[in-house]
Amino acid sequence: MMKHQINEEAKNITETLSNIKKRILVFSGKGGVGKTTVAVNLSFALSEQRLKVGLLDADIHGPNVAKMLGVEGRRLESAGENKILPIAVTKNLSLVSMAFLLRDENTPVIWRGPLKMKLIQQFLSDVAWGKLDYLVIDSPPGTGDEPLSIAQLIPATGALIVTTPQDISLLDSRKAVNFARKLNFTIYGIVENMSGLVCPHCGKQINLFKEGGGERAALELGVPFLGKIPIDPKIVELSDSGKPFIIHSPESKASKAFQEIVAKILHMNRNS
Ligand code: ADP
Repeated sequence: MMKHQINEEAKNITETLSNIKKRILVFSGKGGVGKTTVAVNLSFALSEQRLKVGLLDADIHGPNVAKMLGVEGRRLESAGENKILPIAVTKNLSLVSMAFLLRDENTPVIWRGPLKMKLIQQFLSDVAWGKLDYLVIDSPPGTGDEPLSIAQLIPATGALIVTTPQDISLLDSRKAVNFARKLNFTIYGIVENMSGLVCPHCGKQINLFKEGGGERAALELGVPFLGKIPIDPKIVELSDSGKPFIIHSPESKASKAFQEIVAKILHMNRNS
């Protein structure tokens, strides 16, 4: 790439970031803990507060965000010279994901590291996000090279760590917290997902993956504990049909727990 092109791109990224008030990187020590579910529902919840929200799906291993929001068939459109319009999910929520670039959602993404990073850079330099109150980034899982490169690309970001309640998650959480600390990120805190299942028949709680690991991890690591989201079969059902559970199942225990987490994040930002 020519030197002036690199400079141009860096300039564009700086300009994009200067129009975004807060950035939240949602990440987890490992995959499958509900990181994407949290990123999607957090973005939706913030946008419902009349905030302008952008969601950047950087989890290139499984770009499921578009499916969870029911917009997977859409295509990105260009906006003038060298700019791309994000997908408008609602009036206040826009999304960019590589899902919109894939011809076939069943084809695994086998792009090599540098190419993936190039794409994420373009999601910042070439996308006309406009002025945003929040940019929520769904990071690839883990604390390896990919999340690290993404985190370095988007400095001065807050980190939200998603974990499950098993004791073993303490190890993952510790890695995730250290990762965020090394990058000088503000740590919003830890969310414990899949925390107990309320039996639909008898109403008693079954702790499938134990309970409290995330809370213990937060205490031990000295970071805020934001709350527990129970396992709710409706979350799977709604996610699969492209409907965020906080909107389509607002009275559930999971939605109420989630709204409390969102309120804590908003409160922290009001006081920062
Ligand atoms: P990750 O991004 O960490 O890989 P996902 O958000 O894709 O995880 O979630 C993995 C699966 O678990 C999805 O099918 C999702 O619907 C489901 N899921 C996430 N959180 C919950 C929950 N609290 N209760 C029930 N299912 C959940």
